[in-house]
Amino acid sequence: MKCVRCSKEAEYVLDGSSFCTEHFKEAEGKKPKTDSLIAEYEVLNEYVHKREDGTLLANSIIISATLFVVTFAIQNRNNLGMSFFFNVPIAGFIPIISTVLIFVLYFLWGTSSAVDNVCFGRIHEIENILHIEGTGYVLKNVENKWWYGPRRNLWHIVFILFIGVYLFTAIWLFRQPLL
Ligand SMILES: [Zn+2]
Repeated sequence: MKCVRCSKEAEYVLDGSSFCTEHFKEAEGKKPKTDSLIAEYEVLNEYVHKREDGTLLANSIIISATLFVVTFAIQNRNNLGMSFFFNVPIAGFIPIISTVLIFVLYFLWGTSSAVDNVCFGRIHEIENILHIEGTGYVLKNVENKWWYGPRRNLWHIVFILFIGVYLFTAIWLFRQPLL
């Protein structure tokens, strides 16, 4: 089969037309789709990274704040006194509230990971269409490493650890007699 632009032997087919190497490159370069796909690719990547940065910042601030108030509750459990309504030390409610906050963070993190997965799905699609390797290349090279699983699950471990420690602290504060 001959190239549609010249008399050379066609080696490629693009959108139903045959092209030689030279004209194939030209035709492919002129496809308006490529530019819009690259733009979409950049937007998606930026979207994912911005949200990752936001999540990291929010998690760091709120986790630090809960650590601070739970430490305060432990140190001041005697001064905080007893709850009139529940007849338990007031200090015990502070890790309970912290646990609720960590749960909210965990939920937000989980749902935003789900949104990220949708974005990454589209990012991979674009990489396949454009024949480029970006995140797909990275994934291919890291997913069989021993640390990939723990790394992916790191936030699960952090959230579950904090929830466990705060619940344990709450039980201890509620049960420990005040001086
Ligand atoms: Zn040609």
